[in-house]
Amino acid sequence: MVGIVIVSHSGTLAAGVRELAAEMAGPDVRIELAGGLAEEGALGTDAVRVAEAIGRAGSGDGVLVLMDLGSAVLSAETALDLLASTEREQVLLCEAPLVEGAVAAAVAARLGRPLAEVAEEARGGLQGKAAQLGAEGSEPAAVAPAEAPAVDGVTLRLEIRNPLGLHARPAARFVQTASAFDADVEVMNLTSGRGPAAGRSLNGIATLGIRQGNEILVTARGPQAEQALAALSELAGRDFDDHAEPTLQVESPPAPASAGGEHALTGLSGAPGIASGPARHFKVPEPEIPTGRAGDPQTEWEALTRAREQVRAEIRATRDSVAARAGDYNAAIFDAHLLFLDDEALLTPARRAIFEAGENAARAWHDATAAVAAEYRALDDEYMRARAEDLTGVARQVVAALTGGGAATLSGAGILVAPELTPADTASLDRTLVLGIATAAGSPTSHSAILARSLGIPAAVGLGEPLLGVPEGTELLLDGDAGTVEVEPADELVADYERQAVERERSARRARDAAAEPAETRDGRRIEVVANIGSPEDVPAAIKNGAEGVGLLRSEFLFLDRDSMPSEDEQYEAYTLIAERLEGRPLILRTLDVGADKPLPYLRQRPEANPFLGVRGVRLALEQPELLETQLRAALRTAADHPLKVMFPMVATLDEYRRARGVLDGVRAGTPVEVEVGVMIEVPAAALAAEQFAPEVDFFSLGTNDLTQYTMAAERGNAAVAGLADGLHPAVLVLIRTVAEAADRHGVWAGVCGELAADPAAVPVLVGLGVTELSANAPAIPAVKQAVREVDTDVARGLAEEALELSSAAEVRELAARAVARSAAS
Ligand code: PEP
Ligand code: MG
Repeated sequence: MVGIVIVSHSGTLAAGVRELAAEMAGPDVRIELAGGLAEEGALGTDAVRVAEAIGRAGSGDGVLVLMDLGSAVLSAETALDLLASTEREQVLLCEAPLVEGAVAAAVAARLGRPLAEVAEEARGGLQGKAAQLGAEGSEPAAVAPAEAPAVDGVTLRLEIRNPLGLHARPAARFVQTASAFDADVEVMNLTSGRGPAAGRSLNGIATLGIRQGNEILVTARGPQAEQALAALSELAGRDFDDHAEPTLQVESPPAPASAGGEHALTGLSGAPGIASGPARHFKVPEPEIPTGRAGDPQTEWEALTRAREQVRAEIRATRDSVAARAGDYNAAIFDAHLLFLDDEALLTPARRAIFEAGENAARAWHDATAAVAAEYRALDDEYMRARAEDLTGVARQVVAALTGGGAATLSGAGILVAPELTPADTASLDRTLVLGIATAAGSPTSHSAILARSLGIPAAVGLGEPLLGVPEGTELLLDGDAGTVEVEPADELVADYERQAVERERSARRARDAAAEPAETRDGRRIEVVANIGSPEDVPAAIKNGAEGVGLLRSEFLFLDRDSMPSEDEQYEAYTLIAERLEGRPLILRTLDVGADKPLPYLRQRPEANPFLGVRGVRLALEQPELLETQLRAALRTAADHPLKVMFPMVATLDEYRRARGVLDGVRAGTPVEVEVGVMIEVPAAALAAEQFAPEVDFFSLGTNDLTQYTMAAERGNAAVAGLADGLHPAVLVLIRTVAEAADRHGVWAGVCGELAADPAAVPVLVGLGVTELSANAPAIPAVKQAVREVDTDVARGLAEEALELSSAAEVRELAARAVARSAAS
């Protein structure tokens, strides 16, 4: 008898389906369950459990697997990979509806029908219901190649040439084009038989699994059916506008730098400061993977498990040391590294390679991670592509732990030269050897650059391939502020830079000595300088550097290294600990800002063609108000005893703000707690509407990282457009002024909590625009305060006015530098 496996996220649901099916088909029917996770009551699906259920259900007649949705399907597919090939051939994953399909399949199985017929019955499970309700299209979806069905609309057949098929971006282009016409568009995958799906639904198209070489049938009905098909045909002719972007190739053979003489390489600022010394190429030895016969599979597996444990301990130690030196926010990247170690997408193929193909542990792990890294590199999203480097770094660590391979080394003190660095490489650098960092690739917003900044190592990034051709030991002069490297600089230039370096160090010391003093302009205006933090551990460093409070608690960073949403009590404890460590200083809690570049592993989101413009920040919070309510309840409990304020991220419209505020008011109802409520201004629409927001908020906090990204249409993590993403661009400054003026008119304040606030060069401009609070990472605070002390408000206003007339960030920087030099001389 054919066995049936029910795969569901919920153990209870799976058991219920079995009960119902057994009721219809009788108790003898063989139904096995793979519902929920091993942990009692936990929702989710697990490939290993599915594979075990298939094993129990098999009796030689075949097994039909029915799944609920999403990862259930993925787990079932992965489970197939875990089976021996003879077993796999007996299993059919069926797209039938779970409940109706299980009932119909159970009845057919009980009658002794073969697997194909049982599956056919399951697929027809909805027919009864559809007929009853008079629904159309009660035909089951096929899995085999389909003939184009007879249809009443106009049709178009297309063969897909895109290498990755109709994946997110081309599918999004399809949907946009189809939606532009007054026509009902449907798509069917003729090659796989999947569909039809609505042409206006990204998810619908995604589920058709359209691969390269597949033929699809597009059907359109309605007044503009013909035009819709013509436009789609044209789009297909352009391969759905899905052309690979040129990327910086650092692997190709480097062009040699000019031999001898002065030679400048220009890139971008990674971390401020000047350094000079010989070039030291950072060589990461490729791990040596044993080639001989592998040992017993169980022994190999255990060796891999031990190596992962060792690396887990190493990563945790790195994380703690970075957290101590650079704050928890900067250390959070290592939480993601820990997740790689337990990722089933790596462990499953590694396990298979060891147990089925007899590979050694190092080879199995290396191949599994290389395959996934290659998938990351093939993705459209720059941020995700960068994760390939993180994964490769972790993979190397595990192989080194298995084989005893060495870590990367420098041949002596000097300027580290590398194609690019992983965060782990950067964190483990020996500060006594590394005077500066020069990388051929990378962007100022890469995690390595952020780490270099917080570790105080001058860095220039994106210097291009010629950097790699500079011979070992060549004298280099690195200017981290300008993002340049001089190869074999002239003696006078070195002397000039050395003078500058001494002067910078002197002023840095002055700033550190005065860190605890308030920041007042020359004419006596108080500017509040506060800290951006991500955890309670960040508070001591913030206070030591002179923070007068916290202007931005990125609350999402508190809960990264876990696998479920924190409870209200856990959140309350974290917020209260931070508030207690601040000893009465104000704390601004930003509600969860999840989505785009800040995913939370346990908060699943729909796939989006462009996550930066999708459901993130307050949009996500309003979509899932229970998350926001829990967080606000916890925050209000802390606010009962501490000066806590709340602000909402990524607000675009007044309506969004009112709805978020409505949730807060609802949670606050009946309590005596008062809190000030602010809005982050990081969407240009909100900046332009500041006049409407101002009467309803207690403060504005400008998130210039996102505000710049959206104003300049330059993704914040994309190295190729990093030059555009400078918050001192006059277009961004106009928005800052709009907000500051609206705040002033309505008696509220406007601060800046994006990276621009940490840039001393920007301070006079921001003060001149009317900003009265600056929130920066802890190490930047002394210099920011010092920069405030050098400002004269009237002069700064004039400077800001002039800046608004300019046409580039570079011009504004030049203008501000001249003003600072004049003020220092006066
Ligand atoms: C910003 O966008 O400027 C900001 C402070 O928020 P985040 O960097 O956390 O997105
Ligand atoms: Mg932001």
